[in-house]
Amino acid sequence: MKGKRIALFIFVDALGWEILQAHPFFLSDIAKNRRRLKTILGYSSACDPSIISGLTPSEHGHWSCFYYSPETCPYKWVRWLGILPDFLTNNHRIRHRLSQLIAWVHGITGYFQIYNVPFKYLPYFDYAEKKWMWEPGGMIRGKSIVDLLSAKGISYYVKGPHTSDVQQWKEVEQAIDQQKIEFAYLFLGKLDALMHGWGTRDRSVGELLGEYDRLIRNLIKRAEEHYEQVDWYVFSDHGMHNVQQPVDLQKVIDRLDLVYGKDYAAMYDSTMARFWFLNDPAKQKITHALQQVPEGRWMLEKELRELGVYFPDHQYGDAIFLMHSNMLIVPSYMGAKMIAGMHGYHPDDADSYAAILSNRNLNDQNLESIKDIFRLMEKSL
Ligand SMILES: [Zn+2]
Repeated sequence: MKGKRIALFIFVDALGWEILQAHPFFLSDIAKNRRRLKTILGYSSACDPSIISGLTPSEHGHWSCFYYSPETCPYKWVRWLGILPDFLTNNHRIRHRLSQLIAWVHGITGYFQIYNVPFKYLPYFDYAEKKWMWEPGGMIRGKSIVDLLSAKGISYYVKGPHTSDVQQWKEVEQAIDQQKIEFAYLFLGKLDALMHGWGTRDRSVGELLGEYDRLIRNLIKRAEEHYEQVDWYVFSDHGMHNVQQPVDLQKVIDRLDLVYGKDYAAMYDSTMARFWFLNDPAKQKITHALQQVPEGRWMLEKELRELGVYFPDHQYGDAIFLMHSNMLIVPSYMGAKMIAGMHGYHPDDADSYAAILSNRNLNDQNLESIKDIFRLMEKSL
């Protein structure tokens, strides 16, 4: 006997609306219902919590990874790693291992990465995502779909990005065969990584989408064999921009004769620089210096409010300098080198838009933003 109903929510990292337009074959015949979705300004650390909670970063409290808070920084000891030679401390693998070590020592279960943040500056910053977001109680504020599922006692499969795509699909296939679950949230993360490396126009993008097309069709077919009703949604968090020009913002600030940690603190994410001003002259100097940089612009408070990323206590920065599309901060605290693709630009840019495809009607669902995916999940229960 077949199970009654299953809802499959399949997350394809960086499957932007524009990427979809360039590859019209992708699920073309089975996903007639499709919509463009506005993304959230920021990175996965902002988009993922909005998708699973239906809230904006201002509401749920997750935006970027690091925020200025020297008093509460739990891993102040990493300062001493700064005395190690550069070839060790700049090594990507060593930094990844160290991230795991720091997370373990301080009981951080959330997605923790020190990326390229200099060890001497890490003690100025605390980390937002301390808890694993993909289990009940994981949000800083508000409730996620996982909270809802567990409160309602619905059998579900949600693992989050620590479990590999392959492992997740294998486990969900088994659960479907045994009709064990009514809800699944699955990850496909390779497209994002591929486009960071090669940009959106590389041939490998179409090839991977071809693979995903087959994979998703097979899963749906399998679900239909075991359940009477299968509602499925394929969706993303953001699109991808091709990067054309590196911009050395740190050099502009370093020229100002200000002392990091005394006059100001800065977090150079890859597409935005966030500043905390520790005195007024520093604020004037930094504001003025970056006004002369044509590759980006200061965000207005009104704009941050409208985008749902305004924090009255300036937790994530007193001021945000956002790069224009195609421009990348290099080096940044996220990466030392130029890469081919990036996201985290203004949500109104065409290449920033995310997408959703489904076998269900999406027209009267008031679907405008990626955070509205939460309501679809809620309704599917
Ligand atoms: Zn990415």
